[in-house]
Order: sequence, then C-alpha cells, then structure tokens
Amino acid sequence: MAPKEVKVRLEKLKALIDKYRHAYHVLNKSDISDEALDSLKHELKKLEDKFPELITPDSPTQRVSGEPLKEFKKIKHSVKMLSLEDVFSAEEFSGWAERIRKLEPSGALEFYSELKFDGLALSLVYEDGVLVYAATRGDGQTGEDVTQNVRTMESVPLGIPEKKRIEVRGEAIITNKNFNAINKEQKKKDLKEYANSRNLAAGSLRQLDPKITASRKLDFFAYDLIGLDEKLHSGEHGALGEMGFKTGGAYEKICRTKEEVFSHHKKIAEARGKIPYNIDGIVVSVNDNRIFSRLGVVGKTPRGAIAFKFSPKESTTAVLDIIVQVGRTGTLTPVAVLRPVDIGGVTVSRATLHNDDEINRLELKIGDSVVVGRAGDVIPDVIKVLTELRTGKEKNFHMPRVCPVCEKTVEKNGVNWFCVNKNCPARHREGMYHFVSRKAFNIDGLGPKILNAFLDYGLIRDISGIFELKEGDIAPLERFGEKSAENIIRSINGAKKITLARFIYALGILHVGEETAIDLAEHFRSLTNLENAEFEELNNIPNIGGVVAKSLYEWFREGRNKNLITKLLKHVEIINPKKRAPGKLTGKTFVLTGELEAMSRDEAKAKVRELGGDPSETVSKNTDYVVVGANPGSKYARAQKLGIKILDEKEFLKMIK
Ligand SMILES: [Zn+2]
Repeated sequence: MAPKEVKVRLEKLKALIDKYRHAYHVLNKSDISDEALDSLKHELKKLEDKFPELITPDSPTQRVSGEPLKEFKKIKHSVKMLSLEDVFSAEEFSGWAERIRKLEPSGALEFYSELKFDGLALSLVYEDGVLVYAATRGDGQTGEDVTQNVRTMESVPLGIPEKKRIEVRGEAIITNKNFNAINKEQKKKDLKEYANSRNLAAGSLRQLDPKITASRKLDFFAYDLIGLDEKLHSGEHGALGEMGFKTGGAYEKICRTKEEVFSHHKKIAEARGKIPYNIDGIVVSVNDNRIFSRLGVVGKTPRGAIAFKFSPKESTTAVLDIIVQVGRTGTLTPVAVLRPVDIGGVTVSRATLHNDDEINRLELKIGDSVVVGRAGDVIPDVIKVLTELRTGKEKNFHMPRVCPVCEKTVEKNGVNWFCVNKNCPARHREGMYHFVSRKAFNIDGLGPKILNAFLDYGLIRDISGIFELKEGDIAPLERFGEKSAENIIRSINGAKKITLARFIYALGILHVGEETAIDLAEHFRSLTNLENAEFEELNNIPNIGGVVAKSLYEWFREGRNKNLITKLLKHVEIINPKKRAPGKLTGKTFVLTGELEAMSRDEAKAKVRELGGDPSETVSKNTDYVVVGANPGSKYARAQKLGIKILDEKEFLKMIK
C-alpha cells in the first residue's frame, strides 16, 4: 500500500472504530461483534506499527498506553472544581430554593435536574479537538494527572469536533455489574473488596499502571462544559452530547418549579433499580449560567447547585429487645425492637426477624448494633450484625416454648413455631385484621388500630360484632370525631354484600389464599356446598392439595367456626358465582410469575378466568402453562424442572387475544 493510501485507510479505520466505540459505550447499542471490532483494531495497530509517524494521539490504539508511572503529576485546575452541598429532604431543598429566590428575586428561575453519580469527578481538557490532559478533582485547586488512565476509558472521546480549548467535567463510574464482578475477583485473589462504586472508580483511576485501569472498564458521564459560553446548563448538556459524550440523557430534566423537582426526584428514586450505575440522588442547578455565576460560591460549594440525595435505605441502630408476635395462623414471629431510626424518610422501631433460623444465621443477640434496611419498602429487615461493636453485655435470644399470648404449648413445623391452641386470642385478633382487609371484606377505614380499640373497649367480641355496631357506640371513643364514626359505619354497611370467593378468603383458613378461595367458589358455588364437602372431594379439586383439603375440612367442622358463620350470615349476603360459559381456555391451568408489561398480574388472572381458564399460584404437573414476565421467581425454575410449557408475555397475549 502506498503511504498515501495507508493514511486514508488509517483515517477510515479510526473513524469506524470510533463510531462503533461511540455506539457501544455511549449509546449502549451494539452494532458489531466484539470479534469483528477487535479485528478492525488489529488492522489499525499493524498499520501503525509499520508507519509509526502516522500515529495520532486520538487513535483508538492509544487507549492502552505504555509504561507504568512512577508517580502522578500535579495539575492545577484553571477553574476551581467545587463540591456540592447535600440535602436529604424536600424541606431542606425548599430552604435552598428560597435562599436562591431571595438573592435573585426577579424573573423565572429554572432548574436543571440530573443524576448524581457515585463515582470520581474528572476534568478533561481538549485543545484543537484532542484530549490533552485529564485530572482528578484533588483538593479542588490541584488534581492529579490521570491522562494515561483516562485514555483507556472507552466512553471518553480522544478527539472531538470542537477546536476551541474546552474543559469537560464529569464522573468516572463503574456499572453495578462490573463492580460485583471485580469484587468477586478481588475476593478470589484474597485482596480487599471495594466498599462502594466510588472507591472502586477512584482506586481504578489512581493506578500507576494504565493496564489496570483499562481492565476495570470504567465509564464516563459528562455534566459540565467550560469554554463554550453556553447560556444555559441544559445547553452544555446538549453540546456535550453532540460532541460525543455520554450524559444522563432521558434521566435529565428542566424543572420550572420546586414541585417539578420533587416529582423528578421521586421518578429517579423509583427508576434507581433499573439504572445500571449507582446513583445517590439528583443534582439540581440553576439553569441560567449567568445567574449561576452571580450567585457565587460559599466556601467550597457553589450557591447555584445542590445535591438532592435519596434518603438512605439502610441505617444502623441497636436491637433493644426481641419480642414474639403470634399471627392469625398461630405462627410465632420474632420481631426486633429497635432504637427508633430513620430509614427512607420514616421512623422505624421494629424489624422482622422471620424465624429463629434467621436469628441464628445473623448471629443476632439482644443489645447488638445492626444494619437495618427496607428491602421491599414494607417492614424493615435486619441485614447485618456489627459484631465488632459488641460490648460483651449482649444476651442470647431463645424462642419461647409456650405461646406468649395464651401460654399453651408451641410446635415447630418447618422453619416456624406455631401456637397450636385454636382458641388463642392472638389468632383471632390477627384474623380480624385479615377479615376486613382489602382482598377480603375490604372495609375502608377499619384497620388494626380501630379494631384493637373496638376489642379493647369491649365493643365487639368477634368479627361478626362489627356488623352490629352503631354510630353512637363508637362515637364516644376518643380518637373518632362524629364524622369518622359515621364513615366507618357506612363502610361496614357497604361491605355486607360480598362474593363467595372473598367470603371464603376472609375466613382466614390456614393455607387458603386468594386464588384457592376463587377456585373453591368456582367449584362449590355456594357456602353450604363447601361446608358439607367431604375430604375426598376437596382433595380431588385441581390445584388443591392434601394439606389444603385437610385444613379446610377441619376448619368447617370446628364448633367455633360453625358459630361464627351462623352469626355472620345474619348480616352478610353472599353472592354466589354464576356458572361460567366455556371459553377458549377452559380446562387450562395457568401460573403467572414475574412482571408483565401490558397488564398487572391480577388483570392477567382475571383475563384467564374470563376465558374459562384457571389461574393458580403453584406450579405442579397439572399446570398447563407458566407465563413468565420480567424478574420471574422460583416458579419459573420449577416449571422448567417439571417440563411445563412456558409462555413469554408475547405468546400469552396472543393466546388471550
Ligand atoms: Zn397462643
């Protein structure tokens, strides 16, 4: 190849490799296989080896560069790299916004809201379209020269179309996936694991050997642009994107009011699990750059921007005691009494410990310092015991050998202990909460707190008593004003008509969940039929196993329960299901697992039922189809094991169309 041709070929190769690099690392699109891209790079490398005078600093081959450094050079920032003040609540944020408003009383104040990455801040300087150096923040005035290492980061363009001298600021971060993979490797090699993604990003960039940095596969998100005199911060983001930098894209927003900031904050907090990087809040800046600079700097932080962090999902506190609750089915559940602590914006004083196996697994003692967190946003869990903080005064916990409520014996069944006394008062109170709950009688405004008051004041003795309450009975209870007493009575009266399935579910029979209740209602079509059913008949219903059949059979033969039903039927009108017309799914049993995009799981079940099919909760060899959505549970694995036909959402939607 003639030198002139070589030059043209080189330029084309570089442009193409760069295009794929941009598509893959900036746009997250994979337009070419790794092997194919490697082979392009290989060709480029061979040509450059032959014609070293043609190597340019922006060539993709220059990403992995030579020798380890002895030490980092210092680089003085031309414009100070400031850090941001943190706020954690809407209230604190409002305080900041009001201070800004006072300093800038005239005109509309627009905010730019973007992701707050948990990584390492970098400053990249380009001259004549080429990356000339990259530095860490350091103390804000002077950082360390990490140019060699930054060159290995695929999402940093080595060349840009802009020829002016510009400075790009952004964050070097690592995906959660890579973070976990690297820590796994560290562990394998008996090296220290990184505590968080920020430490890992910093540790990877402050490496004298760029090969280590390259192996860490860091990513770069740009958020500031100095040197182009953009009027708006949003304009800087636009310009950065055009120059080939990755920005927060769809997760960024111009907000015109405080409320818009709050809703953006909420949206990002909810999307957090889907974002592949660790983010710990949003950064809100005054969008108008002139106002931003007029607002100036206090200490090391600019007045015009703030980090609006997410409230932490984990916190540390002390376990003051472990108490045991008795549930509606008699299950004994140990509960940690915590020193009250704020998690995710609410004060928490209890955490579930599930069972004594869990306590043993955690090696938890009363008095321990612990990490507590909210996993599913409901009842917090104890995640970890900080044994390093023990004083020696901690006490072991033992599950009681008698029921803490009725003092009768308890028995272990699986991982749980049960109070076997069917008349245990604890059972009945929990059963009452269940009775009025949303999927049962759905009595609005009648929660555990009010039911407890009814019971404590002796207004009712069992759940049928609620149907006899009068407004005047409950009005004197201190916590209700006239109006809420009236509302409660109205919702109780409104709940007197109920479908058979809901009625069965409301009874709180052990092992009879919502789906089973629906199956039973469909099969028996009246309460009397169900009450009189023999064990054999119950056991022969599809989806109902021996354990459930036994539980049902025994429940309806218990004198107490018979009395309850008699009392309830004085007030309650049960709507029996109509005979279902056969549909295209008649005789087919479906189990749904994971999230569907087009509809909720309840909607999908209703659809299956409407077409004559039977939705079920458990996968067995009688299951015809398992519909698998996103993030499926163990049912998916079980279906595969049993060789059940698996449908994805598309196939399922086609079937129910
Ligand atoms: Zn008991």
